[in-house]
Amino acid sequence: MYRTHTCGELRQEHVGQEIVLSGWVQKMRNLGGMTFVDLRDRYGITQLVFDMETDAELCESARKLGREYVINIHGKVAERSNKNQKIATGDIEILVSQLQVLNQSKTPPFTIEEETDGGEELRMKYRYLDLRRAPNQYNLILRHQMAIETRKYLNDMQFVEVETPYLIKSTPEGARDFVVPSRLNPGTFYALPQSPQTFKQLLMVSGYDRYFQLVKCFRDEDFRADRQPEFTQIDCEMAFVEQEDVLQTFEGLARHLFKVVKGVDMPKFQRMSYDEAMSKYGSDKPDTRFAMEFVDITEQAQGKDFVVFDSAELIVGIVAENCASYTRKKLDALTNFVKKPQIGAKGLVYVKYNEDGSFKSSVDKFFNQEDLKAWADKMEAKPGDLMLILAGETKKTRKALGELRLEMADQLNLKKEDEFAALWVVDFPLLEWDEDTQRFHAMHHPFTSPKKEDVQLLDTDPGKVRANAYDMVINGVEIGGGSIRIFDRELQNKMFSALGFTEEEAEKQFGFLLEAFEYGAPPHGGVAFGFDRWVALFAGRESIRDVIAFPKNNAGRDVMIESPSTISDEQLNDLSLAIKKQEE
Ligand code: ASP
Repeated sequence: MYRTHTCGELRQEHVGQEIVLSGWVQKMRNLGGMTFVDLRDRYGITQLVFDMETDAELCESARKLGREYVINIHGKVAERSNKNQKIATGDIEILVSQLQVLNQSKTPPFTIEEETDGGEELRMKYRYLDLRRAPNQYNLILRHQMAIETRKYLNDMQFVEVETPYLIKSTPEGARDFVVPSRLNPGTFYALPQSPQTFKQLLMVSGYDRYFQLVKCFRDEDFRADRQPEFTQIDCEMAFVEQEDVLQTFEGLARHLFKVVKGVDMPKFQRMSYDEAMSKYGSDKPDTRFAMEFVDITEQAQGKDFVVFDSAELIVGIVAENCASYTRKKLDALTNFVKKPQIGAKGLVYVKYNEDGSFKSSVDKFFNQEDLKAWADKMEAKPGDLMLILAGETKKTRKALGELRLEMADQLNLKKEDEFAALWVVDFPLLEWDEDTQRFHAMHHPFTSPKKEDVQLLDTDPGKVRANAYDMVINGVEIGGGSIRIFDRELQNKMFSALGFTEEEAEKQFGFLLEAFEYGAPPHGGVAFGFDRWVALFAGRESIRDVIAFPKNNAGRDVMIESPSTISDEQLNDLSLAIKKQEE
C-alpha cells in the first residue's frame, strides 16, 4: 500500500495512529541525534522524524535521501513538542518505522518551494518541476474550480456545451491566423480558430438556444504579459435575447464565481458608456477601484498666451491627492514617463496646491495664482494636492492621461489586490477608423449589430454609429466582451460594405454563415470571456502565464518541449511544402 493518508491530512486527532505516506522529499535536516524530513505532495507537507537511538540504520538511510526523492514510509503519528503554526499538519510529526525509496531524483535545478531561486527561463524548461511548487498548484486548482463553477452555473441556466472544430478557416476577430497545411489537399491550409464565433452563431441557427464552451483560441499576435498564442475562452451565445438579457445572465455568472471562489458578494455592476469611460478615464477598460477622474479645464486654461494650451484641442488633468510635496526629481520622472514613446505626450504640466493655499506650477510664467486657483476649483483639488495636466489632440491626450492615472495609482498604492470593481462598458462605436489602411474596421467584429436608432448613420456618418456591444471590466482588466449580432442578411451586407469588403470577399470568407442566415436565423447575441485573465485576476497574478500549466515564453516558444521546431524533409514533402532559405 502506498498511502493511508495524504501529506496534508494528519492532525492532532490522528496522534497514536499507524499510517503510511508517500511523497517527495522537500528537505532533509540532519541534526545529529535526530533527522527530520519534510515530505510533500499536492495536499501539503508532513514532518517525518528518524531517531538515531531508536533505529540507527533507518536514520542512516534517511540521511542519504536527496531532494525530490520519491519515498514511502510507515510510521506512527506523534504530537510535536515544537508546533509549526505555518503548516496545516504543524501539530504532528511521524515517527518513522519503515522507509522505502520508490525513486531517486537528480538534484533539481531550482528549489521546489514557495519561493524559488530559479529564474523564469529555467523554470519554464523544467515546468514539470515548477508545477510541483505550491503557488503554481494553487493557481491550477483555482483554475479548475473556476471552470467547474462556470459549467455548473451555465448548466443550471440551460446552456449546452458544444465542441466546435479547431481545423477551420479564418474567423472574424481580425488578428493573424495560425495555419495548418493540409496533406490531403496540397497547397491548402486550415486556420486555427481565433474564436468559435461563426460556429456559435450557426448553433443559434440550429436552434440550440444557449451554447457555451470552454475553448482554446489561437491568435498569432505579438506578446504581452496578458497574451499567449493559445488561450482559453468561456465562449457563449444565446438566442432570442437583447443586450440586457446577455448582461444580466453573465453578470450572474461573474457574481457566482466571485461568491463561490473568492467569497465576495459583488454589488450590481456599474454601467458606463464607452464615451464616458474615455472622457473620464482615457480607457475603455477603466480601473474604477479608485476615482482620480479626468477634469477638462480647456475653458479655464486657454487664452493666456501659453501656446501649448492655446493650440490644444483638449486640456485635461487629474488630482493626485496629498502629492503637493512631490520633489523635483519625482516630477521629472513623471514627465519622462508621459514622454515615453508608448505613452506619447509631449510634456506634463504640474500644479502644486501648497498647504498654505499658494500654488507652484511648471507654468508660473503664464498663469498667476488666481488662474491656478480657478483650475483647482474646477478640479476640486485641496491644499496638499498635486494637479497633473496634459494637453493636445483629444484622443491621444486622454490615452496618455489614462496611463498617467494608472501610474499614479501604482505610486499611491490605490490598486488594492483584495478589492474588486466590476463594470460593463457599453455603447461602443461600431467602427473604428484605421489611419494605416485608411478604412473603417469593425471595433468588435463584422457580425456586431449597430444600435437600431443609429443604423441610418451607416451611410452618412459611419464613425458615429454605436454598436450593441459590451465589455465586462474588472479592476482595469477586460475580462470579456461580446455583442448582439446582425441576423439580417441585408444589414449584414451593409456592414460588410461599410468595412470595405466587396461582395465576393464577404462571400468567400463568410458565405456559409450568410447562407445560413437565410434559413431562419433567430435574433441572437453572446459574449466570450478570457478565462486565463479571469483566473489570473482571482489569483492576484499579473501574467496569465502563471495560471496556464504549460505556457509559451515571450518569443512564443515552449522551451521545455522545444517548440516550434523544424520538421523533416519527408513531412515537408507530404505537405507539398518547401522552406524558403533565410537570407543571411
Ligand atoms: N468572438 C468574440 C471574441 O472572441 C466574442 C463574442 O463576440 O462573443 O472577442
